[in-house]
Amino acid sequence: MARVTIADTPQRLLLVHAHPDDEVIGTGATMAHYAAAGAHVTLVTCTLGEEGEIHLPELAQLEARQADQLGGYRLTELARSCAALGVTDQRWLGGAGRYRDSGMMGLETNNHPRAFWQADLDEAAGHLVEIMREVRPQVLITYDDNGFYGHPDHIQAHRVAMRAAGLAAAEGFGPDKIYWTAMPRSVMEAGMEAFAGSADNPFADLEKVDDLPFGTPDEDIAAKIDATEQHDRKIAALRAHASQVPDDSWLYSIAGNFGGEFMGVEYYRLAHGAKGPGSGPHGWESDLFAGITAPAPVP
Ligand SMILES: [Zn+2]
Repeated sequence: MARVTIADTPQRLLLVHAHPDDEVIGTGATMAHYAAAGAHVTLVTCTLGEEGEIHLPELAQLEARQADQLGGYRLTELARSCAALGVTDQRWLGGAGRYRDSGMMGLETNNHPRAFWQADLDEAAGHLVEIMREVRPQVLITYDDNGFYGHPDHIQAHRVAMRAAGLAAAEGFGPDKIYWTAMPRSVMEAGMEAFAGSADNPFADLEKVDDLPFGTPDEDIAAKIDATEQHDRKIAALRAHASQVPDDSWLYSIAGNFGGEFMGVEYYRLAHGAKGPGSGPHGWESDLFAGITAPAPVP
């Protein structure tokens, strides 16, 4: 049997994330859902995550100020995560190690010569345009202009993805739709309520949803991807990032307490393109490819 190529795959989804593990937390169920449905799913990760906090004591000396080998280790974690999600097309922006994790906003690590925060926008976008030229994705997923929660690499990933989409559009192969990851306020409020009083309440220090750096009004959400059937794959992918997500993470408490509902359902804002048909009070789409009628572009 002939090998299935990208050109044979009618649905193509491209995700641009900042660090290894970001693909799982906001979009893992979506990636597994579309991969299982036969779509071509491409993950582009912009940095190796060298500045991450290490939660496994046996790996502590890999950190940036000691062996500075965390990035190389996280490369293997990302490979296992993608395997768990069923995603086979995983790439590093500009090649592995081209851009370095910038660390949290305001730290000296922001100024490293290879820090992604310092990247030339057109050069970085150029790497992504080449991937778009090859894959011809109809749908692009990245973060909003605050990088969902303000990390410099997430903000930069947003800028690079949006610039690349613009450059690709000018050449005639821009994505039909661009989505930004989002969390509806109603879901956050329900989560806070459900956790109130529990011992491992991740929202214990919060009085109200407005105190969090994210949260989107429900009417601004465009799509709700219910991929609860992919819950186990998402958890397995999260486990692959053990250096970053400890076993006692509140993410696992949520997963344990609420099953698929909190981990298997993911939400998006539509930043570009026409919203397809949806349902519910705000007409949320249930499919990111909804409304795309043109045949898949040939790479
Ligand atoms: Zn990140």
